[in-house]
Amino acid sequence: MMRDTLLFYSAFDDPIAWRSALQAELPDLDVRIHPDIGDPEAVNYALVWKPPQGFFAGFRNLKLVTNLGAGIDSLVGRDDLPPVPISRLSDPGMVALMASYVLFAVIRYARDIPAFEQAQRRHEWRYIHPRALSAVKVGVLGLGELGAPAALALARAGFDVRGWARSPKDLPGVACVSGRAALDGFLADNEIIVVMLPLTPETDGLLGARELALLPAGAKLINVSRGAVVDETAMIDGLRSGRLGGATLDVFAVEPLPRDHVLWGMENVLITPHLASITVPEAAARDVAESIRRVRVGQPPLHRTDPARGY
Ligand code: NDP
Repeated sequence: MMRDTLLFYSAFDDPIAWRSALQAELPDLDVRIHPDIGDPEAVNYALVWKPPQGFFAGFRNLKLVTNLGAGIDSLVGRDDLPPVPISRLSDPGMVALMASYVLFAVIRYARDIPAFEQAQRRHEWRYIHPRALSAVKVGVLGLGELGAPAALALARAGFDVRGWARSPKDLPGVACVSGRAALDGFLADNEIIVVMLPLTPETDGLLGARELALLPAGAKLINVSRGAVVDETAMIDGLRSGRLGGATLDVFAVEPLPRDHVLWGMENVLITPHLASITVPEAAARDVAESIRRVRVGQPPLHRTDPARGY
């Protein structure tokens, strides 16, 4: 019997760590690291992160494509995808890292930490009376595999949490609304907004000048999904005027954020270099291997996703 073969492609992840993590799960798996492909006809599985256009042409025996991350925006709207199940990664480590980042960013605002950081630079003892966490309204846009656990973690921490998604949700302690018609009211009603939406044709530029103007004066924005979901120019205008009180940004329209970008120098902006959550090969390889086992016996893979739908 021929060995199953997996092709690994990523400019960001460590292929050797992934090969050993996958072979610890599936010792018979032949893991090939792009561009060392060998015979393309032998490739059954692809584990890819941001493959270039046309990448999939020539792999005629693929049975499964796994996106090496949560956001599948690089697989959306392309015509070279094979007609096989597409899955994504979602492991508990990734979910926990994302929730920890969101908790940190929200707590930092709720406890006025940016004001204390500024006061410290002036050697100034600036007392700001703390508010009860239950008085702080936090809105989470996107309640998926990462968004829902983050919203629940915020609710458990004591915040007044609201969530918005495409379809209705039932999350304990989180007041959920859904659909485009509910968005304006949602934005107007929350002082901290956490963006956890995938980048799709519907969400591209979703938070534009009009939407940002709906937020209460001084509201804070936390974006951990994709830069293009927020209109960067409108956001910068809002931050400059103070209408938007602050932003915590892990993702940007252009990454890496260019050295001369205006956001770097803004006092009310915290920048991190796209690492709110990452996948650790040892944990995620278990799911990739399980998906391969399932596809081998004709079952759907774990965390199946649909690039035609956008996520
Ligand atoms: P999911 O695909 O599991 O969930 C997406 C959520 O967004 C769902 O609740 C969905 O609603 C909602 N949604 C999608 N489109 C719309 C729309 N048009 N209107 C309203 N709601 C919508 O994604 P994850 O939670 O796993 O991840 C979210 C994003 O986080 C990823 O796409 C990725 O871009 C980003 N990410 C960032 C990382 C980082 O380090 N900064 C790391 C990992 C991911 P419904 O449930 O009703 O379908």
